[in-house]
Formats: sequence, structure tokens, C-alpha cells
Amino acid sequence: MPLLKQIAEQIRDADNFLVLAHVSPDGDALGSMLAMGELLDTLGKKVRLFNESGIPRRFEWLAPKREILTQLPEEEPDNLIVLDCGSAERAGDLIAPWLKTKKVFNFDHHLGNPMFGTVNWVEQRASSVGEMVGMLARKLGVPLVGLLGEYVYLALISDTGDFCFNNTRPETLEMAAEILRLGLLPGPFHEQKQSTGTLNQLQMRGTVLQRARLYADGRICLISFTRELFEQTGTGPEDTEGLVNTVLYVSGVQVAISLREEDQGIKFSLRSKGSTNVQTVAFRFGGGGHRNAAGGTLLLDMDQAKTTMIQAVTEELANS
Ligand code: 5GP
Ligand code: MN
Ligand code: MN
Repeated sequence: MPLLKQIAEQIRDADNFLVLAHVSPDGDALGSMLAMGELLDTLGKKVRLFNESGIPRRFEWLAPKREILTQLPEEEPDNLIVLDCGSAERAGDLIAPWLKTKKVFNFDHHLGNPMFGTVNWVEQRASSVGEMVGMLARKLGVPLVGLLGEYVYLALISDTGDFCFNNTRPETLEMAAEILRLGLLPGPFHEQKQSTGTLNQLQMRGTVLQRARLYADGRICLISFTRELFEQTGTGPEDTEGLVNTVLYVSGVQVAISLREEDQGIKFSLRSKGSTNVQTVAFRFGGGGHRNAAGGTLLLDMDQAKTTMIQAVTEELANS
């Protein structure tokens, strides 16, 4: 039996779900989780949502009607649906014990997912896990209308960079078209999603871009966010989202590196053009992701992290 059909049957036969996605959720993590919540609700299932880091400020406009728990519920679920987690650790610390004892549906699209679930559905070609939830909804005969459509659409546009990245497949655009046909207006939706910033954030990002530097004969561009800058500008880690993509704007740059000081170590984000694979670089340092977008954490200081990342990316460029 094809995998999607099996998954659909298993979901139909089960009840009492806790749906979760990776910590520091992005548009795909939140979109796929909320979409899964709507889908299960439509099927008449008991469903709760969980994310250890809660809903980031830039997504507050979503105002989900169903609470996103940041603590495990007292009443235990029978099934976990883990979304957009390239590895079990990405789901956070709180859920770790239940990942070992409950039935786990692992729905993901990352390269190198170690199949940590009881049931594993990993589609590397899917643009987003939201697209997979859309496929599942279709299989279960649930139309991508209303909130379900909005949440799937959020996941699609988030992980494809508004349908610009290579992971945008004809099937992705067909799903988006289906959602528009069922009533979603893209203009107001994008406006809501994009207009969530503050002047402080804009100015902090300006400073970071002003300090951007090229390496490896102009093939690498690096930006960095220090805690000092956050303090000076009244901003925080959350306000860095997406700036790394902007850096690829520079002609000749093949890889963009963004480094951000955390309480412990440096969070790195990598973006590449074309066939240059940054997933392999991130994986070397315990992170992961996709060929053109990957990330992880280095337990180093900022200067060490810069040297380490520039060297590792330069080596990858030599191989590609
Ligand atoms: P971002 O740079 O936007 O944080 O993440 C880009 C991609 O890399 C995403 O697909 C994300 O799942 C993956 N990624 C980011 N940070 C980590 C990490 O710490 N570990 C793993 N395995 N993947 C990560
Ligand atoms: Mn994600
Ligand atoms: Mn994703």
C-alpha cells in the first residue's frame, strides 16, 4: 500500500493526539502544526498542540483559537505527531521522555532524518511539512478551506521563500492554487505576515547589514548579531529572522553565513545558491537542514565561530 494511504488510515483509526513541531518554530513548524490541529479537529479527533518555545512575537497575528501548550499536558495523549523535526532533539527537552514511550508519527522533509518515529513519513522533496499535511488532508477528503488552507499556505510560503526557492515544485504551486481557489486572498495574507516588525528592528538590521563582510574571494558573505547590539537597539534574537536570506542578494556570493550570540554559544544559519550544499556543513557541527538552508549551534565564542564557519564553508565551496 502506498505510504500516504497507510498514514491516512492510521490517523483515521487513532485518537487523542498531541501535535508538536521544532523549538523556535518557523512558518512551516507553526503552519503545519496548526493545520494538523484543524485537520484532526475536522475528523472529530481529540487534539492538543504543543511547542516548548511557544509562539514567537512575529507570529502573534495568527492568534490561534486553540492554545499552544508550552508545558506537557497532565492528561497524557496516546499519539504524538512530530512535525518539521529533522531529528528528535529538535522537538525540545520536555517532550523527550514521551518520544520514547508513545506512538510517534514523524512527519518531516529534512535530509538525513533518522526515522525516530514509530511511523515515519519523510518526504525530502516536499517543500514543507505543511505541504505534506495538505496532501494528507486531501487523502482524508478534507478540503483546504478556511483556517486549514491559511495554515498550509503559511507553511508553503515560509519554506519556499514565497515560492522562489528550488523546493517549489509544480505540486507546491498546485496546492497553493487550490487554496486560492477555495478563497484565500494572498495580498492581505502576505501583508499580515510581513508587517510585524518595529523601527528598532529595522535599524538593528540596518546596522548588521552595514557590517556585512565578504570572504573567499567574494563567494561568502557573513553577518553577525551580538548581544551588545541587541542591548543597544532594544531588540532580541527573534528580530534576526530571515536577514541571512537578504545577504545572497550580493552578486557572486554563493553562501551566506549568519552568526548570532546565544546564552550558550553561537547559533549559525547558512544559505546557499544553486548546487552548493550547506546541509553537509551544518551536519558536521551537529546541526542540519536542507541543501540550500541549514543551521545549528557552535559552542564557541563569536571570533572562533567566524573562523570555523568561514573555513568549513570555504572547504565545501572547493568541493562543489
Ligand atoms: P534557520 O537557519 O532558519 O534557523 O534554519 C534553516 C534550516 O536549518 C531549517 O530547515 C532548520 O530546520 C535547520 N536547522 C536550523 N537549526 C538547526 C539545528 O540546530 N539543528 C538541526 N538539525 N537543524 C537545524
Ligand atoms: Mn522549520
Ligand atoms: Mn520545514
